[in-house]
Amino acid sequence: MTYDIHIVGGGLAGSEAAWQCAEAGFKVRLSEMRGSGDTTPAHHTDDLAELVCSNSFRSDDADSNAVGLLHQELRALGSLILREGDRHRVPAGSALAVDRDGFSAGVTAAVAAHPNITVVRERIDALPDTPAIIATGPLTAPGLSERIAAETGRDSLAFFDAIAPIVHRDSIDMETAWFQSRWNKGEGTDYINCPLDKDQYHAFVAALIDGEKTEYREWENVPYFEGCMPIEVMAERGPETLRFGPMKGVGLDDPRTGRWPYACVQLRQDNALGTLWNIVGFQTKLKHAEQVRLFRTIPGLENAEFARLGGLHRNTFLRSPELLDETLRLRSRPNIRFAGQITGCEGYIESASIGLLAGRFAIAELRGETLAPPPVETALGALLSHITGGAEADSYQPMNVNFGLFPPIPGRTKKADRKKMYTDRARSALAEWLAA
Ligand SMILES: Cc1cc2nc3c(=O)[nH]c(=O)nc-3n(C[C@H](O)[C@H](O)[C@H](O)COP(=O)(O)OP(=O)(O)OC[C@H]3O[C@@H](n4cnc5c(N)ncnc54)[C@H](O)[C@@H]3O)c2cc1C
Repeated sequence: MTYDIHIVGGGLAGSEAAWQCAEAGFKVRLSEMRGSGDTTPAHHTDDLAELVCSNSFRSDDADSNAVGLLHQELRALGSLILREGDRHRVPAGSALAVDRDGFSAGVTAAVAAHPNITVVRERIDALPDTPAIIATGPLTAPGLSERIAAETGRDSLAFFDAIAPIVHRDSIDMETAWFQSRWNKGEGTDYINCPLDKDQYHAFVAALIDGEKTEYREWENVPYFEGCMPIEVMAERGPETLRFGPMKGVGLDDPRTGRWPYACVQLRQDNALGTLWNIVGFQTKLKHAEQVRLFRTIPGLENAEFARLGGLHRNTFLRSPELLDETLRLRSRPNIRFAGQITGCEGYIESASIGLLAGRFAIAELRGETLAPPPVETALGALLSHITGGAEADSYQPMNVNFGLFPPIPGRTKKADRKKMYTDRARSALAEWLAA
């Protein structure tokens, strides 16, 4: 089989990169190990672009949120991931959440049907000698991880992310729980809310702290990510932490009391049918039996049936600021680009974004052209700049896109106006980049 570029890993980043290259007319070999007898500790299907945890692509607000802005930029650049995300949207207030199976099936079908893409179900254990994009994600198979570590001369860092549980809708007691989005945003009824009074909340927090954890001691010092922090680790930070985090009751009117509850557990729709709901922010490393016991103490979830329980997984990423150039090429082997979470971005959309950019940089190179990176004023450019040059290699940590990665707005500005200024500036910068 002849091809112009070899893409390894059919996740969010690899599927997007393959799509970009194929749409530009280049022949792509897309190697994905799932479907060949291999899998990762977090994937459950053989579909491309499987969402391993939450079904949310987070905020879709392009005026005041950096990830919403990233969505908008991806749409402007013909992203397959956003196209399928939009097609498989489920209600989630101002967030873009998707039916996870429909979404992944949509990406798989589009990629498989593209005349320029050949999907090969195979595990790759060596670094290719041909033009290639490695997008094997945080759970890269061990053989390839070892090759990458040997090539880069440094061990990739590893830490653990945690997965939130999913509950069958018909097992939730709607006499206690009710439908409502915080502050009635979106459709106003996008979440299921389970209220806790003061005693129930503090008993729950104490039980979380006492609960039996998976290999707790071994991973005690894991540098968890703020956005995916296990619920019990949050509980250990202080008795009020959860009440000001995923269990806050503000903006939610309990129909039984007419008041905001002391604390509240929210569930968000997880599939188009509305039969599965995930417990928002409840990523956990508690043992499975302990999760069932504890989460059934939440009012409304006394009889909850769990479609999936939370868990712990490895996350591998490169010291990209040191190892990659500004177009994501491995300095020591420039025929290879990296994309997705393995570069040290964090999140589905960020991974897809870096896949899109790796694809576009590869296209330019295959054409004998150069493509300037997107301006740092754009969400794409800010994220790329964090990966390839924004941080000290030794203290480099994965990052979601956020306004902290953007160059500050010059001069004195009112805080209330700043987000809109960032997003307006980004839109002009992207338009100029696209025109050039
Ligand atoms: C447990 C866990 C939970 C997460 N939860 C969230 C979340 O809720 N929200 C969020 O935004 N982000 C989450 N992330 C982070 C991140 O967004 C996802 O991991 C995302 O899928 C990364 O995209 P990717 O394309 O880089 O990697 P992946 O989507 O993992 O794709 C990599 C692909 O490469 C394949 N592969 C690996 N090694 C090889 C090999 N040697 N040969 C061939 N194929 C190979 C894998 O099978 C996989 O299909 C989570 C990560 C983990 C690990």
